[in-house]
Amino acid sequence: MNHHLLLLLVFSSLGVGSTATAQDHWWRGNTHVHTELCGHADSTPEAVARWYLDHGYHFLVLSEHDRFIDPANVVLPKPRRPDFILIPGEEISRTSVHMTALNIRELVDGQAKGTPTEIIQAQSDDTRKVGGIPIINHPNWQWALKDSDIRPVKRCYLFELYNGHPGVKNAGDSSHPSTESLWDSLLNDGMVIYGVSSDDAHHFKTIDHQHSNPGRGWVMVRAPELSPNAIEAALERGDFYASSGVFLSEVSADPKEYRLAVDRPRTEAELAAGAIVPRIVPASEAASTAVGWRIDFIGPGGVVVRSLAKESASCPRDASRSYLRARVTFTRQAAEHLEQVSAWTQPVFEDDRLKKVEIEAVRPGWARGKPSAR
Ligand SMILES: [Zn+2]
Ligand SMILES: [Zn+2]
Repeated sequence: MNHHLLLLLVFSSLGVGSTATAQDHWWRGNTHVHTELCGHADSTPEAVARWYLDHGYHFLVLSEHDRFIDPANVVLPKPRRPDFILIPGEEISRTSVHMTALNIRELVDGQAKGTPTEIIQAQSDDTRKVGGIPIINHPNWQWALKDSDIRPVKRCYLFELYNGHPGVKNAGDSSHPSTESLWDSLLNDGMVIYGVSSDDAHHFKTIDHQHSNPGRGWVMVRAPELSPNAIEAALERGDFYASSGVFLSEVSADPKEYRLAVDRPRTEAELAAGAIVPRIVPASEAASTAVGWRIDFIGPGGVVVRSLAKESASCPRDASRSYLRARVTFTRQAAEHLEQVSAWTQPVFEDDRLKKVEIEAVRPGWARGKPSAR
């Protein structure tokens, strides 16, 4: 079988949204992982890449701490699936402001000093100078970043909404907001910022809940081809969703409505595979949480504007809401508690914020059209 035919067969098995163009496909990837080169992870770049190759991912960023791993030097087994690429990158992490520099040509030597805002800004601009795009990592790790640190930043449109490292407190605590609340705060204030999910895996040899293992957080990116530039462009225009365990079969928005559908068989298969670490539903939420699927459409201020216990749902777009995003949650009964996995889709904007962004590629957004003003 030649490669073109093989690729065609692989592509035809991938679900795409009903309004996606014929050449769009969904690519599964992880933007954040570590290797033994950092001194506190347990596997070689080859072994790390091999894990993702063997587990059906399409792309991986070997985002080592302040080191540039050239994908050309990472030897993958042959023959292998043709639909897997390494995207060059690093994690800039000389201060507590960690950022992924994705699709860079060379190392960004993060020497920036100053306030958190100044460091994010300098690291974002330095990333773009070497051809890449910036992602703000795990704002709740050691409570490193507040919404007020991120809000003034220009030319940075991605942050880690979910990070699979057990030391990262995505859900916040009694005195710190969750990353999802932080996101709504930024969106509510007019920022263009999209939510990424990643593994931040360090450990491939010891698998348990205390270690940072692979397969816990990923993005599904919609792009016409699998290449570093196509993935980068789709991330920057928000044409992807973040997942901690849920797969979707439709993500679409036209001028009238925002539509989603879950991919139940694929989600069930992923849960059965065992790499996922679901969120344990706290006792305070358990009484009001039902087992099964829920699709929440969320508007300004994090307000849930429509919530349905269904596997597919739509929400009318409304020009009076500055943004609309969605969260899909699957809840199941475990031995002693309820546990959840989610997918988070990106906001569509009803105001003119996309016109104000400074990077041309970000401007179109991912949705098809805008609602007409009332
Ligand atoms: Zn980090
Ligand atoms: Zn990291």
